[in-house]
Formats: sequence, C-alpha cells, structure tokens
Amino acid sequence: MMGPPGAGKGTQAAVISAMLGVPHISTGDIFRANVSAGTPLGVEAKRYMDAGEYVPDGVTNAMVRDRITHDDCRPGFLLDGYPRTVEQVGELNAMLASASQKLDAVLELTVDLDEVVSRLVKRSSEQGRSDDTEDVIRRRLEVYFEQTAPLIEMYESQGLLVQVDGLGAIDDVTGRVTAALNIEA
Ligand code: AMP
Repeated sequence: MMGPPGAGKGTQAAVISAMLGVPHISTGDIFRANVSAGTPLGVEAKRYMDAGEYVPDGVTNAMVRDRITHDDCRPGFLLDGYPRTVEQVGELNAMLASASQKLDAVLELTVDLDEVVSRLVKRSSEQGRSDDTEDVIRRRLEVYFEQTAPLIEMYESQGLLVQVDGLGAIDDVTGRVTAALNIEA
C-alpha cells in the first residue's frame, strides 16, 4: 500500500488485510509501538520521525525482515508504508525471493496535495501525533516525493501498480480498492 502521508493508507490497509485474512504490517505502527514502549528501536526511530525524516534503511529493513518471517505471514501479508526507498525495494525483493514469495500488487492511493495537507492537519488535532505539526508535515511530503514517489513508476513498469482514487468516504475508497484488486468483500 503506497501513497503520500495522509492518503489513508493505514485506514484502508486495516480493512483490506482483514478481508484478505492476512497480517497488516505497518512500519509506521511498529515504530510508534516501539516509541510508546520506550525500546531502543523506538528511541532511535523517534529522532527521525519527529523530524519528518525516514528511519535509516538498515533499521527499517531488519525490522521488516524479522516481522515477515513469522509464521502468520506464510499465507501472505499486506505491507503498509514499506518499501519507501530504492534500497528498501532491493531488500524486500531479496526477502521475498528467499521465502519463495512475490508481490501480487502494489496499490497506490492517489490524493491531491491540498487534501493531504488538510487531512494531516485535522489528524494532528485529533490524534496529537508528534510528527503531524505543520513543519514536519511539509518535510514528510518532501521526503515522500523525493524518495518514494519514484518507486511507483518502477512498480508500474513491472506491471504491478494498481492506482485507486483515495478521495472520499472511507467505505467508498474501500469499494474502489476491492474492485481494483478483485477482492470479494
Ligand atoms: P507512517 O505512519 O507510515 O506515515 O510512518 C510514520 C513515520 O515512520 C515516517 O514519517 C518515518 O519517519 C517512519 N517510517 C515508517 N515507515 C518507514 C519506512 N518504510 N522507511 C523509513 N521510515 C519509515
């Protein structure tokens, strides 16, 4: 599941993974859980998250590698917010190859920039996420367009990309996602 911050990836990934009966693996959620628990990983990740930067690839890749080798991932899994860099794509390909697994689809939730900014500002007042302040939001969007948006073209050229309009009510977006991916709701 790809798309800029505020596109609704987490919301849609939770619904779709439940429909598919596969684990929802959100690197952002795993980092936030570690921040809340005060683990060394959380302490390291927080420095980057609060600045709107990506957590270093080595840290992120090791965390995903550990997670997707759990038994519950054997039938499949939904990755939300990973991979986000060229290096992460390379690592993910290696992880999948060694587990004889492959990507079935890369779903991009598309949303226009004004909508994304207004959603993030709203979320900051509702959830109080420390990375949803205006300066950090701006930086997170910059980093997304610099480092992650180019991956979408790469997946498109591999024939894996499925694009869905992320604008509108949650249920409507879910309907578009299930139709685009041929998932029976
Ligand atoms: P998210 O909830 O997916 O928007 O992620 C929140 C923050 O966690 C991001 O702004 C990054 O600091 C960090 N993060 C999440 N996923 C990744 C990733 N794949 N690579 C690097 N940093 C990540």
